[in-house]
Amino acid sequence: MELACLDLEGVLIPEIWIAFAEKTGIEELKATTRDVPDYDVLMTQRLKILDQHGYGLPQIQEVIGELDPLPGAREFLDWLRQRFQVVILSDTFYEFAMPLMAKLGFPALLCHKLEVAENGQITDYLLRQRDPKRQSVRAFQLLNYRVIAAGDSYNDTTMLGQAEAGILFHAPQNVIEEFPQYPAVHNFDDLRQEFLKASAVHSA
Ligand SMILES: [Mg+2]
Repeated sequence: MELACLDLEGVLIPEIWIAFAEKTGIEELKATTRDVPDYDVLMTQRLKILDQHGYGLPQIQEVIGELDPLPGAREFLDWLRQRFQVVILSDTFYEFAMPLMAKLGFPALLCHKLEVAENGQITDYLLRQRDPKRQSVRAFQLLNYRVIAAGDSYNDTTMLGQAEAGILFHAPQNVIEEFPQYPAVHNFDDLRQEFLKASAVHSA
C-alpha cells in the first residue's frame, strides 16, 4: 500500500505568514526562520506583533480566507487522491490552514495547534511533537505503508529522507544543491510524473 505525503505551504498554498504580511502591510511579519533561526523566538515575536496590531484569530482567518491555493494545486491534489491515500504534513496551525483547506476539499492534515482566548486573542501555540513530518512518515511505515513524500524546503528534508521516495517541489536552488539525492521539479505536471515514477503500483 502506498501513501503520498505532501507539504502544504509553498507546495499547495502560499506561505501563510508572508501572504498575511502582504495583505495587511505588516512588514515585520515577513521574518522567517531564515531571519530568526530559533522557531520559539520567531513565533513569540509573531504573536506579539499580531497583538500589537489588534489581530485576533477571527481577523486573521478573514485575511487568510481571501487567499487562494497556488494555481493548479487543487487539480493536482484531486489527481493525486485518485491514485494514493494522501496526508498533508505541515508546520502550520489548524486555525490558520482551515480557510484554505476548504478550498482544497479538506484533505487529511497533520499540523500544529494554537491556543486562543475567548476574545480571539492568540495566547500560545502547541507543537504536536518534535520532527513531526519525519515521525508521521515513520508511523505510516509501521502501518505497512510505503511513503512517497514531496516538499519545498529544509523543514521537509527529514520527511523526504524517511520516506521510501522523496521529491523536491518548488525548492530554492540552495536546497536543491544541498540535497541532490532528490529529484527536483517546479510544476505540477512534472510532479505528477515524479509520483508515478516513484510508485511501485502506478507507472509513468
Ligand atoms: Mg513548505
